[in-house]
Amino acid sequence: MNGSTRWDTLWVNARLVTMRIGGAPYGVIEDGAVAVTGERIEFAGPRGELPSPPAQCAARVIDCEGRWITPGLIDCHTHLVFGGDRAAEFELRLNGATYEDIARAGGGIRSTVRATRAATEDELAASAARRLQTLMAQGVTTIEIKSGYGLDLANEAKMLRVARRLGEMLPVDVRTTFLGAHAVPPEYEGRQPEYVKLVCEEMIPAIAGQGLADAVDAFCEKIAFTPAETESVFAAARRHGLPVKLHAEQLSDQGGAALAARHRALSADHLEYVSDEGIAAMAEAGTVAVLLPGAFYFLRETKLPPVDKFQRAGVPIAIASDCNPGSSPALSLPLMLNMACTLFRLPPERALAGVTHHAARALGLPDRGRLEPGLRADFALWDISRPADLCYWIGGAPCHSVVKDGRERPRQ
Ligand SMILES: [Zn+2]
Repeated sequence: MNGSTRWDTLWVNARLVTMRIGGAPYGVIEDGAVAVTGERIEFAGPRGELPSPPAQCAARVIDCEGRWITPGLIDCHTHLVFGGDRAAEFELRLNGATYEDIARAGGGIRSTVRATRAATEDELAASAARRLQTLMAQGVTTIEIKSGYGLDLANEAKMLRVARRLGEMLPVDVRTTFLGAHAVPPEYEGRQPEYVKLVCEEMIPAIAGQGLADAVDAFCEKIAFTPAETESVFAAARRHGLPVKLHAEQLSDQGGAALAARHRALSADHLEYVSDEGIAAMAEAGTVAVLLPGAFYFLRETKLPPVDKFQRAGVPIAIASDCNPGSSPALSLPLMLNMACTLFRLPPERALAGVTHHAARALGLPDRGRLEPGLRADFALWDISRPADLCYWIGGAPCHSVVKDGRERPRQ
C-alpha cells in the first residue's frame, strides 16, 4: 500500500456472473465489484466488502452503470483458419444439387483443402482475423483453433502458424490443435493406412518439435478414421507429450468417447450417438463433453446428444461454435448458447457454464472461466437484464465491452 492504491483498476456498480459453484444461481453477486492488478483478478465480490472506498482501492475506477459482467467467453472447438468458403455449395444444394453432384464438381471438404493449400499465410490470417473479430465482439477472450485442411506437413504447419499469429495480432488467447487426422487427402485416396502412418510418424513429431500445437485431435467416424487408426494417432500424440481430444460419435457410435477417455482426453466432441458406456468412461476420466449445436442445426440432424445422462453421470458439458466452412459457419457464441438451449434443452445456467469454466477445462486451462481472485482478468460487460438474456436472444450482440488480461479491449 504505502500510500498508493492497492489495485490497478476497479470496476464497480456491476452485477457479477461469477459462475462460482455452491452459491446463488450463476454465482450472481448484485452490486458487485471486480479489481484487477496486471493480468489477474484480485477481487470479485460485493462492493460492500471492498477494504476501503473505491477511489482509495485502485488507481482507476470504472463505473459499469449496472451492467452485467461475465467471465470472458471461451470457444473451445473451432476450425477458424481455412481458405475459400462453401457458400456456393450451400446455394447449389438448396437449388437441388445432390452431395454426389457437388463432390463431382470438386466441392466438399476437398475444395476447402485445395483453397487452404493454395492460400498464403497472410491470406489465411486476414480471412480468419475477420471471423475472429466477429466472435470477439460478442465476448470471446479465448479460442481454440484446429488445423485439418492442409493434410500434409507443410500446410498443416502453415495453418497452425496462422492460428498462433492470430493470438499475437489480436487481444485474444489462441490454443492450437493439430487435426491431421481430419480427412484423407486426395493424393492418399485408397491408401488411408499410409496416410495415418504419415500423421503418426512424421507430422506429429514435426509439429510437436516446432511447438505448434497444444493438443492433438482426430475424426473417428465411418467416413473418416477407424478407432484403431485413432488409437495410433493418440499414442503418437502422447509419445510427444500432447494431450488429445476427439471428434466422436457425431454420425454413429464408434466407441470413440470411451477410446478418448482411455487416453484421458481433455474432451470428446459432438457425441450425438454416444453410448452409456462412453458416458461412464468419460465421467471416470474427467473428459469434457463438447456439444456443437451449430453443426447439428446446419446439417439438420435429429439425434440429440444425451444431455441429461451427461448431467447425471457428472460429465461437464461445454458448448462451442465449431466454426468451419462445411458444417457450421457460425460466428457467434451467444447464438450457440441459444441453440444449445433451444435444440438440446440445456438450461441457460448450464449453457453458460459451457462457454466459461467447462470450456476452459476442455482446453486444459484452469486459470480462467470464472470471476475469482487469482484467475486471469478476462471478462465481458453486457447490456442485459438477467444472465439468461445471453441465451434468449437469437442473434443480436448485447456485448458492451471486453476486458482481456486486465485491459479494456478497443472496440472492433
Ligand atoms: Zn470440428
